[in-house]
Amino acid sequence: MTDNQANVETIVIIGSGPAAHTAAIYAARALLNPVMYEGEYASGVAAGGQLTTTTDVENFPGFPNGIMGPDLMMAMREQSINCGARILTKTVDSVDFSTRPFKVSGSFGDVFAHVVIVATGATAKRLHIKGEDVFWQKGISACAVCDGALPIFRNKPLVVIGGGDSAVEEANYLTKFASKVTMLVRKDELRASKVMQERAFANSKIDIKWNTEAQEVQGDQMMAQVVVKNNQTSAVETLDASGLFYAIGHTPNTDFLNGQLTLDESGYVITTPDTMKTNIDGVFACGDVQDHVYRQAITAAGTGCMAALDAEHYLSAQGLI
Ligand code: FAD
Ligand code: NDP
Repeated sequence: MTDNQANVETIVIIGSGPAAHTAAIYAARALLNPVMYEGEYASGVAAGGQLTTTTDVENFPGFPNGIMGPDLMMAMREQSINCGARILTKTVDSVDFSTRPFKVSGSFGDVFAHVVIVATGATAKRLHIKGEDVFWQKGISACAVCDGALPIFRNKPLVVIGGGDSAVEEANYLTKFASKVTMLVRKDELRASKVMQERAFANSKIDIKWNTEAQEVQGDQMMAQVVVKNNQTSAVETLDASGLFYAIGHTPNTDFLNGQLTLDESGYVITTPDTMKTNIDGVFACGDVQDHVYRQAITAAGTGCMAALDAEHYLSAQGLI
């Protein structure tokens, strides 16, 4: 061990969403003295993660009247600190899992840790079309399950962009509330699995526009129209829409891992079923960075708890605590 490894952290948590904070709360209460690197606008999202980009969160238990996303994340942060976690507003730029203790690096220098918990989440892909910044969260959303039930979307025409399983799932879900859902698919076929395709075709409230791409979102206080273009005929059309839902995929925030953890074909960290263990002993992953299916705050929090408990067992088995 070199001199700068003399002060080895027991647990470093990378990330700042519900998964990271739940891991921090459990680790701190287990007297493991965790330190969290919460990121400084890492992956383009403020510390606190994806919920800082939304308004009402109505499905996180414990808040009968809902809670604003940023308020929920501030409360989680405060709870982590109250439990004893140390939080540094720094982004982790790289890790070295080939040495023990592990090395975690950024503008803060190098720190060493017996356990690393990766909770860096995922970022919903956006199109960056005209009007998107103006109407983001004023009708535009990247999460139908989260926002679809809001009163502004009830009995209104809605648009979903994408042709994968998420897009079909979101379109189907939105038909519970909408008067009609139009799916914009840039090809002449869906990427979604056959069973999901059948579901879309069978739903009379879903209309699919093939070879069609969104160009612009228009409105006043809230969005009201989407301008679309057929990429085969170049015909341009303006659709009335009170909501626009992006379902064009997510990017898991794993670049800084530089290939050191095993990822699936979409870039999500693979964890051993029923645990939060990765392919490297002592490195755990939780939340959306390892979950392309559920992607909810409560599931992220649940896996954060699992990661902290798995970490405690690992440290104990290794005689490190
Ligand atoms: P994230 O929330 O993804 O946060 C991880 C954060 O870690 C990053 O954002 C970044 O700040 C930080 N980070 C990333 N890389 C690094 C690094 N290298 N170093 C340091 N820090 C880093 N779910 C619900 O249950 N209910 C809802 O109502 C709801 N609404 C949503 C609305 C929107 C618009 C979106 C996009 C998502 C919504 N979700 C909702 C989903 C929910 O936000 C996510 O499932 C949840 O936030 C995932 O938590 P996480 O802990 O995995 O990480
Ligand atoms: P996918 O990557 O599977 O699909 C993304 C869709 O968005 C594709 O149709 C793609 O079009 C389209 N797209 C991407 N970029 C653009 C763009 N710039 N403009 C317009 N369209 C665009 O992502 P999903 O989130 O749908 O799925 C991710 C994973 O999760 C998959 O493995 C999926 O099977 C799984 N999943 C499973 C579910 C289930 O089984 N119930 C539910 C949800 C997800 P193109 O095809 O032309 O590339």
